[in-house]
Amino acid sequence: MIMKKEPFVTKEQLQEIVKKYPTPFHLYDEKGIRANAQALKEAFSWNKGFKEYFAVKATPNPFLINILKEYGCGCDCSSLTELMLADALHFKGEDVMFSSNATPADEFKFAGDMGAIINLDDFTHIEFLEQTIGTIPETISCRYNPGGVFKISNSIMDNPNDAKYGFTTEQLFEGFRVLKEKGAKYFGIHAFLASNTVTNEYYPVLAKTLFETAVRLKEETGADIRFINLSGGIGIPYRPDEEPNDIYAIGEGVRRVYEEILVPAGMGDVAIYAELGRFMMGPYGCLVTTAIHQKHTHKEYIGCDACAVNLMRPAMYGAYHHITVMGKEHNVCDHKYDITGSLCENNDKFAIDRMLPKIDMGDLLVIHDTGAHGFSMGYNYNGKLKSAEVLLKEDGSAQLIRRAETPEDYFATFDCFDILKDMKYK
Ligand SMILES: *Cc1c(COP(=O)(O)O)cnc(C)c1O
Repeated sequence: MIMKKEPFVTKEQLQEIVKKYPTPFHLYDEKGIRANAQALKEAFSWNKGFKEYFAVKATPNPFLINILKEYGCGCDCSSLTELMLADALHFKGEDVMFSSNATPADEFKFAGDMGAIINLDDFTHIEFLEQTIGTIPETISCRYNPGGVFKISNSIMDNPNDAKYGFTTEQLFEGFRVLKEKGAKYFGIHAFLASNTVTNEYYPVLAKTLFETAVRLKEETGADIRFINLSGGIGIPYRPDEEPNDIYAIGEGVRRVYEEILVPAGMGDVAIYAELGRFMMGPYGCLVTTAIHQKHTHKEYIGCDACAVNLMRPAMYGAYHHITVMGKEHNVCDHKYDITGSLCENNDKFAIDRMLPKIDMGDLLVIHDTGAHGFSMGYNYNGKLKSAEVLLKEDGSAQLIRRAETPEDYFATFDCFDILKDMKYK
């Protein structure tokens, strides 16, 4: 079954947008973001305390985060600057989850000062946190890593045993005891055991493990468990033949295990938290780029004005991103291309041996599903500058929500050295 993947923007709309904001840029779909955030909220409305803490690292853009805020989302932060961003957007105290690892002291300090919920990654962080902020917060969370492999009906989804994150089972129980002794009153557990799962089963299977663990933790340590954080990991269909997750089925699946395990244990008031990133934004962003070169050597290449600096996933993980040649949606895909960026790295290819319609110079290419872990993973290799981000609003207009980097930005970190004092490139 080949399903079609269509851009959320038309060629005519894009031609207007590029007059004002030259390619490359990431474009986001306000309508899609809103509808999806609403669906998530409805899917978990059976749980009174449900809250999505958007994983800021996926798409750290204040305009987009503010849209999610309207649907009751908080922020899941992983670093100092992400905490600062949440703070600047007036997310308060328990609207912020701080799920970090190998955490520097100043980050715990900032999180403590703003009253964020701290999600500890390791047993030793209990003491480190106490020394750093002078106390153990009343509300505290621990990240769990049961080890082994994470399976859903015999297929291996991921390998927690190899993951650097979280407490072992033994450490988790001991950690809760120690935290309680040190004054913690309200507890949460968190686990992230598989990434980009395109199955409705991931959350329910994970929830079962966490719910059973929570019941034992309560019985054995007497901890008052207030929330269970299923974290990120709900995936999106990057490939056109993949079936998208059904968030209502996922919410229902979690509800079933909640009623089977938590309710009979007298834990029917536990809140369910999520820290979704990819699912919230991935499909609602795309990278828009122009074909600027064609090269015929041992293979056929199309060189475009975006590169891995704008979207690293293909280079980093060999990830598939669907590509639409705008205006040629109905043409036959009878040309085999490598679609490349301009980095001096042979893995700077958005697609390899991809069958596409014939591409002409100046064609606009839409690289799909870059709304999460797209722009944000960017870097500055080869001195390339990061692109702009543009929001396609519900009324069809386009709003610049981050300007493109300039050479001045790139050189800004040398501003304390005389060596560039005569720099004239702005
Ligand atoms: C990256 C991350 C997320 C978001 O993951 P997605 O795959 O984008 O859903 C959530 N929580 C933590 C702790 C993370 O590191």
